[in-house]
Amino acid sequence: MFETLSKAPQDKIFALMAEIAADARPNKIDLGIGVYKDDAGNTPIMSAVKKAEERIFATAKTKTYVGVAGNKGFASAMVKLALGDSVPLDRVRAAQAPGGTGALWVLLTLLKRAKPDATLWISDPSWPNHKPMAEQAGFKVAAYPYFDPATGTVRFDDMLAALDKMGPSDIVLLHGCCHNPTGANLTEDQWDQVVASMKKTGAFPLVDMAYQGFGDGLDEDAYGLRAVAAQIDEFVCATSCSKNFGIYRERVGCSIIVAKDPAQADIANSQMLNVIRGAYSQPPDHGAEIVRIILEDDALRAEWKAELEAMRTRMIENRKALADAIRTRSNSSDFDFVAEHRGMFSLLGLDLETITRLKSENAVYMLDDSRINIAGLADERIQRLADAIVGATR
Ligand code: PMP
Repeated sequence: MFETLSKAPQDKIFALMAEIAADARPNKIDLGIGVYKDDAGNTPIMSAVKKAEERIFATAKTKTYVGVAGNKGFASAMVKLALGDSVPLDRVRAAQAPGGTGALWVLLTLLKRAKPDATLWISDPSWPNHKPMAEQAGFKVAAYPYFDPATGTVRFDDMLAALDKMGPSDIVLLHGCCHNPTGANLTEDQWDQVVASMKKTGAFPLVDMAYQGFGDGLDEDAYGLRAVAAQIDEFVCATSCSKNFGIYRERVGCSIIVAKDPAQADIANSQMLNVIRGAYSQPPDHGAEIVRIILEDDALRAEWKAELEAMRTRMIENRKALADAIRTRSNSSDFDFVAEHRGMFSLLGLDLETITRLKSENAVYMLDDSRINIAGLADERIQRLADAIVGATR
């Protein structure tokens, strides 16, 4: 049987994690995997999450099946969190999914059924799992211009020119906020132009919203998605609770369909449920129930929002501190863009030789494309990282 197979490519993020674990130097700096870390380098459980879990433990009476669409209260709350009031709910259907990745997979499989010959466009660069996932779903994958590593900014004119050439057989994967891996995001005005282009060409939006609340705020980060919803009458969105609720391993996400009318929404939803039934039958409940409890309870919701806001502002402070520390040492504004980026990541635009040298000489670990996670940087590490970057790029 297995003699027909060759080894699958190793995921770069998990390979880097193994490399970091094998480095015995005590002062190593891990800028690798995308999890939020506090000053001590821990990824804490949010207090609102702990309280919701205690409530589940104290009050849950059954572990019977929840159904193919999963936790319905959770899905409704997620739709509201992402879409706000931007679209009438009779055109919206949603299903709980195992993480943002599971939500994306369900939607990609659904879109493949709906439009088998479509081309799926991802940004250049994009989250490394987008392309393999889209290919696994059977799509032809192409890339639209997105990031200029020389300036750390979005190549917006090039992006828009590529979008303007698309048509109804194109599906465009857009990062809702906090672009991974670059950290460079569209302004509100640029989102409006993207939406106007897609409305004109008929290209279909697939919005990946994995970091709502990590950029400029919960509603601010949903600007692009809601602009899509206000102007384009059908699209899909995958959301994740991994980061903004800090429940990575619970695997909680939501697949959202917005259709032209309620009848089409029902048909698309029946296909989505059929995809889920044929894959894993139904999602696990625990993490979704945590999120439902928090979002439906005023006090817990306020507590969660305050914790999320503290994480968000700390990441912005880290960005400013790193940009300042590099500027002071190098006397140049070359890395000022780090302070303008949002979310956990910035793509520094370093070449592989520099990245390799940072590893061997400074025990500084980042992905091969020079993506860093700025969340895990306590002040002392920021200063050491700035020394290392300036030393390596001088
Ligand atoms: N999309 C993007 C852009 C991401 O960065 C991630 C997480 N790294 C996901 C989707 C999926 O997140 P998860 O499956 O962990 O919820």
